[in-house]
Amino acid sequence: MQYVPTIGLEVHAELKTKSKMFCGCKNDPHDADANAHTCPVCLAHPGTLPVPNQAAIEKVILFGKAIGATIATYSEFDRKNYFYPDIPKAYQISQYAYPFLTGGEIAGVKLTRVHLEEDTARSQHDQGSGSLVDFNRAGVPLMELVTEPVIHDAATAERFAKELQLILRTLDISDANMERGEMRVEANISISKTAELGTKVEVKNLNSFRSVVGAIEYEIARHQEVLESGGVLHQETRGWDEVKLKTFTQRSKETAKDYRYFPDPDLTKMDMSSFAPRVGEIMPALPQEKRDKYKNLGLPSDQVEIVIAHRELDRIFAEVVKLLHEQPAPLKLAMNYLTSDLLSLVGQGTVSFSTLDTAKLAELITMLCESRINSRIAKDLLPELFVEGPGIAEVAEARGLLQVEDESALKEIVATVIANNPGPAEEFKAGKAATLQFLVGQGMKLSRGAANPAKLAELITLELTK
Ligand SMILES: [Zn+2]
Repeated sequence: MQYVPTIGLEVHAELKTKSKMFCGCKNDPHDADANAHTCPVCLAHPGTLPVPNQAAIEKVILFGKAIGATIATYSEFDRKNYFYPDIPKAYQISQYAYPFLTGGEIAGVKLTRVHLEEDTARSQHDQGSGSLVDFNRAGVPLMELVTEPVIHDAATAERFAKELQLILRTLDISDANMERGEMRVEANISISKTAELGTKVEVKNLNSFRSVVGAIEYEIARHQEVLESGGVLHQETRGWDEVKLKTFTQRSKETAKDYRYFPDPDLTKMDMSSFAPRVGEIMPALPQEKRDKYKNLGLPSDQVEIVIAHRELDRIFAEVVKLLHEQPAPLKLAMNYLTSDLLSLVGQGTVSFSTLDTAKLAELITMLCESRINSRIAKDLLPELFVEGPGIAEVAEARGLLQVEDESALKEIVATVIANNPGPAEEFKAGKAATLQFLVGQGMKLSRGAANPAKLAELITLELTK
């Protein structure tokens, strides 16, 4: 019989607010100027009192609405007691019995709860003889979410974490950059051959999607090896070494009892009914809604994923959808240009999506669909989307780039091509069909790309098979 792995995730996300969770200090944990954003409250001077940040609470409720969680009617903050140099109060303000949210689902994974707490300061241990502590991060609002233990493989865990990141960014409540510690994943892993769960190990410090997958796969294999060789697993907290690609023992796991949670007497109890109605009005379109909508328009899902995961592309495409009146064919073309040519053009660093004129993009796509320009000319005109000035039709006309459909003009081109290339013309006449492509190419060159290549081929064939 095979071992079945069971995984639950805990994710911390730093919320984007102007000020910290319980004081007026600027929320800027990445400021290189250490301890620039501190005050008596977040440094835990005796006699100071915390005041909850309403905007942070509203962001958690917005998140709850987005994932279909139940929003508490009553809530409170608790003290989580533990001593550590980066916790100056010797307790962290968190939530225990009454989290803001319960339930909800992301990427098919059910959540247990979501609560709000304050982040800790940051210790630096490799600074000569002593350790340094930077309190810029102390008191930053931190949302913690816990999933049910319903994940059974690393791929599902990764999919969950990626979708969570996308939702946090869509709601604009956290930048959720894992490498910056704005979103931190911990995985609880156990394996068992029976319905009863095995010994649980927690792996912390997973700062990339790759680490999430690597640590889970490593732990599943390690558990199996220990159990099969007759060993015993210990409930513990382990770290992930990104270089050695191994987990290592950090400490034995604390239980809730060790933290001696109790309601923080400095903070009032909260009636949550006043928060919820206001928050509902600002809900943006969620990733899954966009997927469904774009799928209905027949857009390819791999390109849809690129667009919705990219903040600028997402904004631009949503505007283009409106400008092109949700017509599937032009939108397919627009999405194709955005995810290939335009993405690589911006990648070269000379232009930026922030200056892309969406009206001009819609105009270019419409002209393509109406065969007023061909795709070669369209590619040449892409840099025009990023500059202010006349529209695409005007630019194309001024430069003589509008597709030549006029039969007499095309016939003139054909005559010139045949006169200039008697050899290939004879070859074609003699039955070498491949020469047609060369002759069409000469005609395109002559028209500086503006001729309709299909019509050109038709007319050359007609002329040479008379
Ligand atoms: Zn402060």
